[in-house]
This record gives sequence, C-alpha cells and structure tokens, in this order.
Amino acid sequence: LFISFEGGDGVGKTTQIDRLSALLTAARIAYRRTREPGGTELGDRIRDLLLHGGHVSPHAEALLYAADRAHHVATVVRPALARGEVVLTDRYLDSSVAYQGAARALGPQEVRDLSLWATDGLLPDLTILLDADPAVGSARTDARGRRDRLEREPDAFHAALREEFRVLARQEPERIKLVDAERPVEVVAAEVTGLVEQLIAA
Ligand code: C5P
Ligand code: MG
Repeated sequence: LFISFEGGDGVGKTTQIDRLSALLTAARIAYRRTREPGGTELGDRIRDLLLHGGHVSPHAEALLYAADRAHHVATVVRPALARGEVVLTDRYLDSSVAYQGAARALGPQEVRDLSLWATDGLLPDLTILLDADPAVGSARTDARGRRDRLEREPDAFHAALREEFRVLARQEPERIKLVDAERPVEVVAAEVTGLVEQLIAA
C-alpha cells in the first residue's frame, strides 16, 4: 500500500506521519517512511539545489522535482512495495501539480503527465490532504525558525496552491481524502488513523 501526505507548508504532514509511523510500529506492520524532495542520496542533492540554491526557472524546477520523483520511485518506493511494505511518503505528485502546475502556472495537467511519465504511472492508493489556511501554516513555519526558498513566497502563491489541492481532492475523491488540519493534532491524527485502517481492511 502506497500512502502520500500532501498539503501546503506547515500544515502538519511531518507530525501526522510521525504518529502514524508509531501506530504501524506498534501494530507490527512493516512500513517504509520517506519524503520528497529527497528520500535518496541523489534526491537530497536535488532537494538542496531546489530549496537552498539560487533562482531556478519554473520549467527547470518542475523537471528537477520530476527527476527526484523518478529516482525515488525506482529505487525506494517500488522496491518497498514489492517487499509488501506500506510506504508513507511526505509529499508526492500532487505537490508538483499544486506547486509547479498551479502556483507556478505551468499547467496542472502537463505537470501531472510529466510526473506519471517519470514514475511509470505510479499513483498512491491513498492520499491524505492536510488542508489549512495558509496563515495557519505560515505561523507554524515561523515557530520552527528558518524559512526555505518556497516558504518565503507571497501569500497569493500559498493561496493558489491550497486551492489547487482542494480541486484535486474533488477530482479524485476515491484516492484523495481532504482532512481539516486546522483542528488539534490529536483530532486530525484520529481521522488519519481511521482512513488508513479502512484502506488496510479493504
Ligand atoms: O520538507 P518540506 O516538504 O516542507 O519541504 C519541501 C519544500 O519544497 C517546501 O518548501 C515546499 O513548499 C517545496 N515544494 C515545492 N514543490 C514541490 C514540492 C515541494 O515547491 N513539488
Ligand atoms: Mg516546508
């Protein structure tokens, strides 16, 4: 089973994956936790270029995310799935569709197609979309300290990508479950657990 966590910056993806990982460990369910960009040695170098390098042109940015994803899927995600592990990824292709496709205006469909080409069509079985007002995420990011290149984007950028994530959830309601992430961590975690239990039982 392949599960992705999506949403804007500071919505709580990492916290929710921490909690779900602890539950899976307790239940003795084998899982592999990973993230994008990154998750591989090459990916971590791409991540560094994207987040802490200088200006990257929008098309180059989209291609670097696609390259990161191609390598991540081929060397980490597919092998783990083949071993029968549950894979939990912090971001996947919906992030590209929302950030590069919508917020950077490269075209959601084009960016989705690029990502499907890069991964030989691998889509998650379940995508947990943590949805929150960008102001909430921004406050959490501030509390955490240093901001990367994307976290310094203007409000309109974060509003556009939130809207695109919501559109995606309406387009693919079977795969993408929208979870209100403005509620307390425990409440969000309970809903996430329920969604994963349903998937495992199915
Ligand atoms: O660790 P985290 O997921 O927060 O860091 C990834 C960074 O890359 C975030 O600032 C996010 O906004 C950005 N990003 C992006 N396009 C993607 C995926 C992530 O701009 N497709
Ligand atoms: Mg971030």
